[in-house]
Amino acid sequence: MFSTLNRLLRRRNPHQLELGFHAVPTNGVELLARLRELGMGNAIQTLRLTRNRMVMVSFSGHELRIHEGYLSAPESVLRAVVSFVRSRSRAERARARAQIVSFQIERPKSSRRRLPRTAAADESMAQELRQWHEQYNERYFGGALQPVPIRVSRRMRTRLGHYTARSSAGDPPEIAISRSHIQRHGWEEACHTLLHEMVHQWQDEHGHPIDHGSTFRAMAREVGITPLARRAVPAAKQCGSGPRKPDSLTIGLRAARQQ
Ligand SMILES: [Zn+2]
Repeated sequence: MFSTLNRLLRRRNPHQLELGFHAVPTNGVELLARLRELGMGNAIQTLRLTRNRMVMVSFSGHELRIHEGYLSAPESVLRAVVSFVRSRSRAERARARAQIVSFQIERPKSSRRRLPRTAAADESMAQELRQWHEQYNERYFGGALQPVPIRVSRRMRTRLGHYTARSSAGDPPEIAISRSHIQRHGWEEACHTLLHEMVHQWQDEHGHPIDHGSTFRAMAREVGITPLARRAVPAAKQCGSGPRKPDSLTIGLRAARQQ
């Protein structure tokens, strides 16, 4: 009996086994159908496959965007996508998020991110930021943050800085700060941006979503920076954070501070 079972199992390919004998979806329509079988319901009407390697899953209104790598995700991960979309409880969302993020998107070696570097002439700025990172880490985070590569970018125009988590392909995390931001707004502002990105690093290292939601705002207040995604906001919007869209959520690898 055991050997019969074994023979039976050997005939199936491992993907089919993982998916409980379901065929692997090959496009957005098939994936949406699969997610509905797993209990997604009809709240999502369109599913768009993306190649944005910084975003795994994102939904807003009736549209779900999901990285195409998830076509081959096992059933447990697809179930996590369903509960991420459907859940109203923060704890359940956090569990779903952890499972979604743990899935390694396969991608050919050739498409690995070629990591940008700090220009030689900007290396002293990067060095200064690294020293501030060390000091702020001690002062505000009890030295708990990991050392992280810090880069000065000449390409960021509207973004002041960003934090990027380790990618599923194993590219290291990083903080990048815009060179024109340092030059135009000065070191005090640039250090504010650095601390902002360190709060994202803290979110990442503690398993929180990398966003500007409630954990970000709480930690930002604790370290004494503006709990906002933007550097300056129009006066009318300065009180409160504006209308929130509880049905718009993203699981991604990067958050940026904007002008
Ligand atoms: Zn941010």
